[in-house]
Amino acid sequence: MKRFQLFINGDWRSAKSNETFESFNPYTGQPWALIPRCSTEDVNDAVAAARIALEQGEWGGLSATARGRLLTKLGDLIARDADKLAEIEVRDNGKLWAEMRLQVGYLPQWLYYFGGLADKIEGSVPPIEKPDNFAYTRREPVGVVAAITPWNSPLLTTMYKLAPALAAGCTMVLKPSEFTSASLLELMKLVEEAGFPKGVLNVVTGFGADVGEALVTHPDVNKIAFTGGENGGRLIARNAANDFKRLTLELGGKSAQIVFDDAKLDDAVKGAVSGIFAATGQTCIAGSRLMLHESIHDEFVEKFIELARTARMGDPMDTKTQIGPVTTRPQYERILEYIGIAKNEGAHCVLGGSAATRSECGEGWFIEPTIFTNVTNNMRIAREEVFGPVLSVMKFNDDEEAYGMANDTPFGLAAGVWTTSFARAFTASKRLRAGTVWVNTYRAVSYVTPFGGMKRSGIGRENGKEAIDEYLETKTVWISYAGSTDNPFVMR
Ligand code: NAD
Repeated sequence: MKRFQLFINGDWRSAKSNETFESFNPYTGQPWALIPRCSTEDVNDAVAAARIALEQGEWGGLSATARGRLLTKLGDLIARDADKLAEIEVRDNGKLWAEMRLQVGYLPQWLYYFGGLADKIEGSVPPIEKPDNFAYTRREPVGVVAAITPWNSPLLTTMYKLAPALAAGCTMVLKPSEFTSASLLELMKLVEEAGFPKGVLNVVTGFGADVGEALVTHPDVNKIAFTGGENGGRLIARNAANDFKRLTLELGGKSAQIVFDDAKLDDAVKGAVSGIFAATGQTCIAGSRLMLHESIHDEFVEKFIELARTARMGDPMDTKTQIGPVTTRPQYERILEYIGIAKNEGAHCVLGGSAATRSECGEGWFIEPTIFTNVTNNMRIAREEVFGPVLSVMKFNDDEEAYGMANDTPFGLAAGVWTTSFARAFTASKRLRAGTVWVNTYRAVSYVTPFGGMKRSGIGRENGKEAIDEYLETKTVWISYAGSTDNPFVMR
């Protein structure tokens, strides 16, 4: 069993309690690593280290350019060790090696992009109308940032926060999911090697209800950047409200993929399969509601089933595997529960609909790729996030009905549109209430494009230039060269 250590104030150490918890390999169903189980004491140490690094340490004295160079250096080190980090992600998380080596290999781009932005953060000089006054704005780091991340893309969702926060000059305490803490602790070795001053980045590991909550309620944390589920997000928002902490929330989704009758069907089938079965459906952007024009419905479903049937399941390290295990045991049980709910609601299960017992799945937590047709938008399977390889298929008659159904959801993270008509592409992109709309593609993300949710899918945006604003405060400075004013009792 591999033992991981905490990284707090530049030191490698155990939790104060000396306690650990097990991390499981979802392919074998067996524990493979021991992770320190932190308590409030460790959280206090980590926040104090981040505060000192922010206000008294070397970090605040670095020029923005030097800060940016450190980010670039970290990017180079990640590029060097990408395969090693990807292997840990696969073991801890069950995601495919084929996907993870690309995903981890792509992470340095966030550090290069935001590293480059670090010395382009500028204030302004408003054209002040009051004579003999000068005003300017400064953009200052928001302070100590707590980044709390989920198990489905541990390093990627961390990078969405770490790169802009450090570029802005913040310091951080990172809390990974209790199910997938290993890769972030491993990443800290590269943070140390890159030469970040101590206390700039600190990691605490443990459970949401104790470590997570201690971090969110800590009075010395200024901002919380959270990716996770709706319930966690709601609790965090309530707790953050006590001190009016700054907050970004990246939450769940129930994204629609609309296939119009003029779409290139074979491309749309591949896009729809990728939307729901890639990463075993465990992505916030899963295209879990497939809306088909009634004239193409039957042909599309047939083609979809044909392709989904060929998906190879098994060892996520095998480059030929296309669907890996579900990351956690509770999530595996939850997906099976939703399959039962859909059957009881009267949806027709036309593929899968059970745990996978194929020999290549071993003892892992596998679910057969599952497709339900005859779903209506008021069924729970169409309204709630399943976070697994379970697709709901619905029919529509005309464009208005498609937009209405797609928007009739509490979520607003993403949507997909398949059409060969420019008019439809533009109209749909405007009409759909979602933070990202993909046309004739799906699951594309980049460090340059803002990402985030409308409605219950979140608050704020990550990635792209505007992400850095989430980690900055604007200060206005007034300087008068008028001497004293005549009447001190009126506004100047
Ligand atoms: P989760 O909400 O259970 O946990 C996320 C993190 O929050 C974990 O680190 C957990 O320990 C912590 N946490 C839980 N309760 C907390 C509390 N009260 N206070 C502080 N921290 C707390 O989510 P999960 O099950 O790990 O991840 C799956 C969810 O994440 C899905 O809903 C998915 O849609 C969402 N997600 C969203 C995005 C996005 O960008 N919108 C990306 C990935 C995942």
